[in-house]
This record gives sequence, C-alpha cells and structure tokens, in this order.
Amino acid sequence: KSRSGCEALKVVARCRPMSRKEEAAGYERVLELDVKLGQVSIRNPRAVPGELPKTFTFDAVYDASSKQADLYDETVRPLIDCVLQGFNGTIFAYGQTGTGKTYTMQGAWTEPEKRGIIPMSFEHIFTHISRSQNQQYLVRASYLEIYQEEIRDLLAKDQSKKLELKENPETGVYIKDLSSFVTKNVKEIEHVMNLGSQTRSVGSTNMNEHSSRSHAIFLITIECSETGPDGEEHIRVGKLNLVDLAGSERQSKMGTHGERPKEASKINLSLSALGNVISALVDGKSTHIPYRDSKLTRLLQDSLGGNAKTIMVATLGPASHSYDESLSTLRFANRAKNIKNKPRVNEDPKDTLLREFQEEIVRLKAQLEKRGMLGKKRRRSSRRKKMVDGEGTTENEGDDDNEDGLEKNMENYLKEQKERLEEEKAAIQDDHNLVSEEKQKLLQEKEKMIEDLRKEQEATELLATKFKAMESKLLIGGRTIVDHTNEQQKMLELKRQEIAEQKRREREMQQEMLLRDEETMELRETYTSLQQEVEIKTKKLKKLYAKLQAVKAEIQDQHDEYIRVRQDLEEAQNEQTRELKLKYLIIENFIPPEEKNKIMNRLYFDGEEDQWKFQPLVPTGGSQMKKRPTSAVGYKRPISQYARVAMAMGSHPRYR
Ligand code: ADP
Ligand code: MG
Repeated sequence: KSRSGCEALKVVARCRPMSRKEEAAGYERVLELDVKLGQVSIRNPRAVPGELPKTFTFDAVYDASSKQADLYDETVRPLIDCVLQGFNGTIFAYGQTGTGKTYTMQGAWTEPEKRGIIPMSFEHIFTHISRSQNQQYLVRASYLEIYQEEIRDLLAKDQSKKLELKENPETGVYIKDLSSFVTKNVKEIEHVMNLGSQTRSVGSTNMNEHSSRSHAIFLITIECSETGPDGEEHIRVGKLNLVDLAGSERQSKMGTHGERPKEASKINLSLSALGNVISALVDGKSTHIPYRDSKLTRLLQDSLGGNAKTIMVATLGPASHSYDESLSTLRFANRAKNIKNKPRVNEDPKDTLLREFQEEIVRLKAQLEKRGMLGKKRRRSSRRKKMVDGEGTTENEGDDDNEDGLEKNMENYLKEQKERLEEEKAAIQDDHNLVSEEKQKLLQEKEKMIEDLRKEQEATELLATKFKAMESKLLIGGRTIVDHTNEQQKMLELKRQEIAEQKRREREMQQEMLLRDEETMELRETYTSLQQEVEIKTKKLKKLYAKLQAVKAEIQDQHDEYIRVRQDLEEAQNEQTRELKLKYLIIENFIPPEEKNKIMNRLYFDGEEDQWKFQPLVPTGGSQMKKRPTSAVGYKRPISQYARVAMAMGSHPRYR
C-alpha cells in the first residue's frame, strides 16, 4: 500500500495434493513450497546439469496441507471486509484444469471443511450484517458464464438467450438484462449459487471439458446505507466478483491430431486477452490497454488496473507431468503481481437498488397509511373516521409503526366496516316504511358497498404483503437479521483472525529481510583483511553469477515460449485460410453470382457484438434505419470479396 492510494494486485499460489492417479503413476514432485517465506520453487524434471530450480515469491503460498479456512482467513477475509465497506473486490482463480480452481472458489459446499471461497464469503457477509448497527443492507447475487465469447445468465429461465455487454459513461461496463436475486440470508444466496451451478452443468454434455473452457463469475453486490457525520444518509456499494477462470493450459494440446479444429476452440479469446491486458499494464510503456478485446477483460476492467481490490489465486499441480503448465502459471502470476490498482469506496453512486427499495417502501407505507392500515395511526384515524364520518386524512407524526399489529388492525377495521354494512342492510330489510322498489335499490347499494369493501381489502392485503416483503429485504443488524453465534464462537473467530494476521505480518517481514539482505550486500565495504575482502567478494560474485544465469535461462525460456505461441498462431492462420478456400470454392461453384451479390449487399458489421449481420429485407421503420450504424454501403474498411463471402457463410475469422 502506498500513500497515493495505489495498491498492488495480491497474488497467492496454491498447490493441490498429488492425486491418487499421479501417485499410482509414480510421478515425481517438482514443486516445493516455503509457506513461511511465501515462495514456490519449481524444478525442471528434464533439467540439464547445473540447472537450478526457479523460485517465485508471492503474497502467500498454500501447500497441499492447507485448509480452505487458512486461505480464507489470511487472504480473502480482509478483501471481503473491504467490499462490505463499499470497495469493489475481485478474486480470480487461475491455473491449469484439474489444479483446484473450482475447489478453491466453490469447493464442496455441503462439507464445512471443504467449503471454498464463495460459500465462506456468504457466511462472512451475512454475519457481518447481523452484527452491524444503524446500517441498512441490501445484498443481491448474479451468476454468469462466458463460453466461446458468449455471455450466459446462469440464473435466467431462458438459457438460449445471449446477453450483451453495454457501456454506461457513468457507471462503466455492465451486462444488459442480467438477472440478480436479492437475498436475505445465507440459505437464500446458497440457493442462488446452487441454481446457477446446476444450470451450468446441465447445459453441457461434458462438464469437465465445458468448465475447462468457460469462465464462471459469481457476482455479489452489497449496498449499505448509513447516516454519516453530516447527518445525511449515505449509500456505499461494494461489488464482489468471484471468478473461476477457464483452464490456462494451451488448448491445442488437448485436441486429437488429424481432427479438424473446431472454430474458436483453440484459443480462448478471453483468457489470452487477460494475459495481454496484464502484460500491457505491467510493461509500463503501453498507452493502450486492450480491455476491449474480450468479454472477460471488458467486464473486469475495474479489477485490473482500476478501482477494485483484486486477488489472484494461482493453482498448481505438484507432479512432474504438469511442469510446463505450472511454470507458465507461475510466470503469469508473477507478472500479475506488478499490477497496481487504485481502490476507492463507491459512495453515493447513482441508481442504487437500496435507494429504490427505500423509496418504494416509503410509497407503499404512505399508501397503507392512506388506507388507514398502519399501526397506531390507523386506530386513531379509524376512530376519527367514525366520529366525523368522512375520510380520515393521515397526519404525519413519524412515530414508530407497529408492524405486527398491521394485519390485525386491518382485519379489525374491515370486520367493523362489514358488520356495520350488514347491520344497515338488515335495518333496510326490516324497515317497513320503505316501498319495495326503494328497498331493493338501497339493498343493492349496500351490496355494492360490501363488494367494494372486499375489493379494497384484497388490494390492501396485497399492498401489505408487498410492503412486508420489501421491508424484510432491507437487512438491519439485530432486527431483520440476527446473529446466532455465541460468545465462545466469536472469541474463536477473533483468535483465528488474529493468528492469520500474525502469519501475514511475519511473512511480510521475512520477505522484506530477504530483499534487504540482497541490497545491503553491496554496502558492506569495510574489510579487516585482504583475505576477508576476497572471500566476501567471491561469495558476492557467486551469488550474482547465479542470478545472471537465472535471468539468462528466463530469457531463453521466454524466447522459446514466444516461438511456440507464434507457431501456434501461424498454424491457426493456415487452417483458417484453408477453411476459407473451401468456402470460397463452394460459393464460386454453387451459388449464382447474382445471389451472391444480393447477399453481400445486405451484410453489415455490428461492432458492438463483433458479428456480421444481415440487414432486414424490408426496412422496418425509421428508427430501425437510424440504428444501423454501418450498413454494407457505409462500411468503411475495404475487405476482399473473398473474406466477405466467407463471413456470410458463417465462419468468422477475425480480420484485424
Ligand atoms: P479445476 O477447477 O482447476 O479444474 P478442481 O477444483 O476441479 O480443478 O480440482 C481437481 C480435483 O482436485 C478435484 O477432485 C478436487 O477435489 C481436488 N483438489 C483440488 N485442490 C485440492 C486441495 N487443495 N485439496 C484437496 N483436493 C483438492
Ligand atoms: Mg473447474
């Protein structure tokens, strides 16, 4: 943390235990974790003689014996506390498939020991709220997935619908029509989580493959209103993104050879864009950060170099067969360490749901009061109603309303009224002075009044139910939400947090000492003898030489990696060109030129959705015409006929 309010991305690494399969296959262990120091060392199983293990330092590391609660208390809890104060927070799990991303984020939520970050944060959030004082909270959750650059709302009824990203100049990027559920307690939000997880697995034939290629984001929004020192009410909003990323392994390895590659399955656009954004952010020279290149990076722009607090959990496998992927994960995480964010509290943003709820509650309350249905006021006004025989206008005294009495009052009032009407009806019936015709008319009138009363009763009941439901969603510590932990549990919790804090501080100190050691090496200049000077300088030289070798090896590795990626891209390009030639061949030989021209004249490119589209054959009105920004005619970028036709055929190679 620095004075300017900048804060580095927090990066931790976690290594899962050897799996039974790996043990059975007799794989060596290539990872060593130094938990106290926060370091991971990785040893190349194909090392040439003299090749040293590579060491990476992170904010914390978690070895195979680490508990879910360790990671939560030490690393995640402080972030969630900040979100509760109105900061935005993001937690990413990044790593190869099968290394524990889902285990870390979600875990087995039914087993308390194995609950991951998401379910643990539920407990944390609602416990915090239940212990709060003089604050009102509103908590809601959304769950979405990005798969092949399409956003799917995991909580929506209609799963075929693809959601769009929109940008608001004031509030930033958001997802249009994303559903969110207001949740009042842990159980409700767990239900939302399970609902989404089910949808996620139902929609895919092979869950493992699906989850290795898609990004899942669980989004919790916490709004809190509180009277500030200025006597005014202020609302703070904290948004929490919990992200289970797609597997970081290079997809090309997974496809069977000879098989024609499915489109877009080779490169996970969002994942490579994430890497590019991180590189651009940390290289210090880039003026352009390519957030717009993918859905994921657009959505999480705030979390990378923006105003959020962000944690990355890099997950690793310990065995030798995942050496390449583990090393690449460690490098990725190591780069991410250098990202600087500028977190700040979101105070009094526009359009909070909490404000909307408060206003709606006030409105409903006023309506109920008008109907004379609220607490003491009702009794008073109903009494007055009787006396003056007119509409009881409600005077606004602002005293506390007795909610529990609400229904009873309403019941009593309506019973009174109904009885009165029935009595009057009976009186008319018994009145022998009235002519039968007149009697009939009066009776009908009374009938109608009773009917009206019944209708009013229904409407009021509906209103009261709505009022109660809305009010119950605003969480107030000790009132609408109660803390059930006992003193002993609270003490235990506190102790656990203290210990976590202690560990964190110790590690920070150790890391700092290590750094200082390296720095001060050059400063010790006084030597008692020539012999000593030679010794010390030789030692120093050796250390520096080792460092130089490490850097050289790193450069070589990076270079090799670069060549590999380049070859991959060239290969992908060749495949796409081949595909294009095939489509072109078909078009040239089987589609009459005039048809082809018709099609091409109707095409336009929708930049927002990154898709080629057809103009409607018949313009559907003026507004439609205006909305079309780039018609085929107005399209500025010249593209070859070749490419255009291929695009019309449904393949969308990215020509940029
Ligand atoms: P990913 O989501 O990265 O593909 P998973 O979370 O599905 O990986 O983990 C793969 C397997 O390893 C699962 O069976 C999971 O239970 C197990 N696993 C992962 N991390 C741990 C851990 N820290 N402790 C124990 N088991 C783990
Ligand atoms: Mg997973």
